[in-house]
Amino acid sequence: AYVITGACIDIKDGACVKCCPVDCIYEGERTLYIHPDECIDCGVCVSACPTQAIYEDLRLPSEMAHFIAINREFFAAD
Ligand code: SF4
Repeated sequence: AYVITGACIDIKDGACVKCCPVDCIYEGERTLYIHPDECIDCGVCVSACPTQAIYEDLRLPSEMAHFIAINREFFAAD
């Protein structure tokens, strides 16, 4: 799944939400989140993001690895 990282915090541009074909990007208080089980790994959102906040989880820079859990935890109550 793709993951939204720190560059989205307090920006929440929303271009990714508009281009995601399965509507799996959701708005939180300070950032957007990608639902890890709904994402179909199309990659469209990566180039749409003006702050380059989105990465495929497998290619996430190690210093951003914690954002996998952060995205997943946002949906834990589902
Ligand atoms: Fe949506 Fe595709 Fe981005 Fe996943 S990779 S969040 S399906 S646009």
